[in-house]
Amino acid sequence: MIITLKKNIPQSEMDRLISSFEEKGLRINLSHGDMYTVLGLVGDTTGLYERDIQANEWVENVQRVQAPYKLANRLFHPEDTIVDVGGIKIGRGQKLAVMAGPCAVESEDSINEIAAEVRKAGADILRGGAYKPRTSPYSFQGLGYKGIKIMKEAGNRNGMPIVTEIMASQNMDEFIENVDLVQIGARNMQNFDLLRAVGHINKPVLLKRGMSATIEEWIMAAEYIMANGNPNVILCERGIRTFEKATRFTMDLAVIPLLREKTHLPIVIDPSHATGDWKLIEPVAMAAVAAGADGLIVEVHNHPEEALSDGAQSLKPEKFAAMMEKIRKVAEATGREF
Ligand code: PEP
Ligand code: MN
Repeated sequence: MIITLKKNIPQSEMDRLISSFEEKGLRINLSHGDMYTVLGLVGDTTGLYERDIQANEWVENVQRVQAPYKLANRLFHPEDTIVDVGGIKIGRGQKLAVMAGPCAVESEDSINEIAAEVRKAGADILRGGAYKPRTSPYSFQGLGYKGIKIMKEAGNRNGMPIVTEIMASQNMDEFIENVDLVQIGARNMQNFDLLRAVGHINKPVLLKRGMSATIEEWIMAAEYIMANGNPNVILCERGIRTFEKATRFTMDLAVIPLLREKTHLPIVIDPSHATGDWKLIEPVAMAAVAAGADGLIVEVHNHPEEALSDGAQSLKPEKFAAMMEKIRKVAEATGREF
């Protein structure tokens, strides 16, 4: 971290500042210029926050050199993290992982039928929401624990681990008992109590990007989970909010190579929530695989026009199967096993 101090800073204030950093185990490179004095902080600065330092009236500017995250940082952990989800390995160099299923689990019959269809088309993991974060309190809120139970049965029947979203840590036991991959939704990406809670469990976590979160805020959310003891975090891009209204959100595909550089965590892309339109799912999914995503999570429904949530962005099973064939070709062309 580089701290620029005003020229006329009193010596006593400078000494106080320097010893406060030294007490934190940092070494200081001091450089006196004509206009400013510059402190170069050497060591682990993840515990420092620029804005706190900026509060000092003698500080002109603070510049971070090292990212504020440590455990998720590629710099300190050069090897790619591979996350095991009920036997499916997700991460760089692994087979492309495909998670598919309805937005929400609606009934035993429908989840069984959809699970069988997506499995037949080659999906590895069954997705479905039981606790749904709906914008309106009058919309279908999900089947709750019953949804998890019937989804687990559908997963078992078809040999698929399951991924579903947790909204409150009070339900954690249901997830520990039944769920293979615990999803933190976009709306809860900065629910720090929930992040801490999933940090304490022994299950992998799918951390979706908040719709208005920067890449750094998103990685810091992963850092929360990891700092609380859970290293098995998968990052999922699901589109961000921009001025554009033609799509539901705006897919930020540049995160794939960017995250690859900054972190060692697996990267999954959700073309359903990112676009909000089933017609756009296939091309965006193909682009994500071409750009090196480790996996996809896609909404599939056997009767999208009757779906209780997100029907407009759900593929019919036959469209999903056709997409899987195209993805296979992209995966092969880019050297990714499928
Ligand atoms: C979901 O995957 O069901 C979901 C609600 O997604 P997001 O949190 O990305 O909106
Ligand atoms: Mn959905």
